[in-house]
Amino acid sequence: MSFVDSHIHLSDNIYDEYLKLMIDIIHNLNIQVYSVSVDLESSVKNTILKKKYFGNSELFKTFIGIHPEYASLQMLESFNDFFLLNKKTINGIGEIGLDPTYTHNNRSNTFDIQKTVFNHMLDIAEKNDKPISIHSRRSLKEILEILASYRIKSVVFHWYDGSKSLLHKINEMGYYVSFGPYLLYSEDKKILLSESDLSLLLLETDGPVYYKRCFEYVMTSPAFIISIVNFVSIMLKKNFNEIKDIIYRNSHNFLNNR
Ligand SMILES: [Zn+2]
Repeated sequence: MSFVDSHIHLSDNIYDEYLKLMIDIIHNLNIQVYSVSVDLESSVKNTILKKKYFGNSELFKTFIGIHPEYASLQMLESFNDFFLLNKKTINGIGEIGLDPTYTHNNRSNTFDIQKTVFNHMLDIAEKNDKPISIHSRRSLKEILEILASYRIKSVVFHWYDGSKSLLHKINEMGYYVSFGPYLLYSEDKKILLSESDLSLLLLETDGPVYYKRCFEYVMTSPAFIISIVNFVSIMLKKNFNEIKDIIYRNSHNFLNNR
């Protein structure tokens, strides 16, 4: 069973010069990655990365989507066409969601536009039984309300940063939460981890985001996942391999809508 990094932006241009290194890390350390997208361009790039470097390997899972920061109505039609052409090789829809932070001083990005784009992404996921990876900064409640009107089985709240009570609600609905490297230094995230349903837990790096406090600004790579698994096993007083296998099984269930 492989490790799993359930949220990384390998299509980000920052990775271009490190791409060979990242691919070697994934293969040599046996780490499955969900490479998420933020717009049409990165969605196209992720499908190319998959085809070129991973073929039919289980180690690279392609997630395409439009991130709330890049919400735009003009892109929707070509996004649809792209999805339909590549449907079979696409494993999930993400990173999608809502985030009021990006609407400040930005007339071209309103909360209404974000909602329209998000609903569009959810329509595609529902119609095609695709798992989704959600960005929910300052919008958890709205997102939960919107999700209630869809029948989508596999939902992960990436970089979970909400309250304990919403975490319980999310798990009760059968949705997953994912935590990243900040688990190693953030006290409130440690509490959230201990409150999470272990069968609905995923782990992620969210690379290329940098982590100054625990990884000294080293380029974020999927290899960080091993430290996170180690930390989670210590926190939850379980064996390293047990946590590794639980996360793998969760990932398998998540990707297959089980
Ligand atoms: Zn992300």
